[in-house]
Amino acid sequence: MGKIALITGASKGIGRAIALGLAGDKFDIWLNYKSDHSAAEKIKSEIEQMGQSCTLIPFDVCDAQAVEDTLSPLLEENVPYALINNAGFARDTLFGLMANDDWSQVLDVHLNGFYHVTRKLAPHMQRQRKGRIVNISSTSGQTGVPGQVNYCTAKAGLIGATKALAKELAKRNVLVNAVAPGFIETSMTEHLISDDYLKAIPMARTGKSEEVAGCVRFLCSDMASYITGQVIAVNGGIYM
Ligand code: NAP
Repeated sequence: MGKIALITGASKGIGRAIALGLAGDKFDIWLNYKSDHSAAEKIKSEIEQMGQSCTLIPFDVCDAQAVEDTLSPLLEENVPYALINNAGFARDTLFGLMANDDWSQVLDVHLNGFYHVTRKLAPHMQRQRKGRIVNISSTSGQTGVPGQVNYCTAKAGLIGATKALAKELAKRNVLVNAVAPGFIETSMTEHLISDDYLKAIPMARTGKSEEVAGCVRFLCSDMASYITGQVIAVNGGIYM
């Protein structure tokens, strides 16, 4: 049995690219998503064609019981080497207009989602004295963006969690880092692309999911064996 990577929110976008990239690096994949079964099935067959196994594990990362019920039996058999906390979405609106649900659902998916899945896996990784956890944060969590107080709060919180957990787990050789993507072309951003955004990016273009996946693949590789507690930006220079 080779190394396993669990990626949350991997039915599309950045998570999909990470799953395919890590499969290319010979990881077997536990592929989480919430609702898009047909997209997940398609990725599963792409991964299997690459010669790796892919176990579909649909659950809502906000649902502690669903996380427990799905992962407990799997963890009796195997422990993933890598966990990528990627599931998420934005609910952009000005703070004065923000509904309670816009606030709580965004914090829930990014922060409680991170908590439920990582809390389940980290003790197993500690016992094995090896592992990599990569949290997908955002430039928004580093700079603050108007209209995204909820999302910026969640993504900045994930950076704090990354650093604290990195310090807790370092002696057990479990390395914890964050990747902070800038403006990446996915379904989350398709309605946002405009010349104003592009003008603000020194590289004058949006990023591709595969460019974020490249950084995650590096952090999950033997080449990143002395890197922990870091936030690595993949943002075309928009925040330095
Ligand atoms: P996306 O294309 O909309 O994909 C989101 C993925 O998350 C889907 O697979 C979706 O599953 C899954 N998901 C959503 N809620 C979930 C839940 N409660 N439980 C489990 N899975 C859930 O988004 P993306 O742009 O790739 O974003 C991926 C991550 O990167 C997010 O954390 C996002 O905040 C972050 N990010 C994105 C950008 C960007 O520019 N795109 C920049 C910085 C950071 P289903 O579709 O199956 O329901």
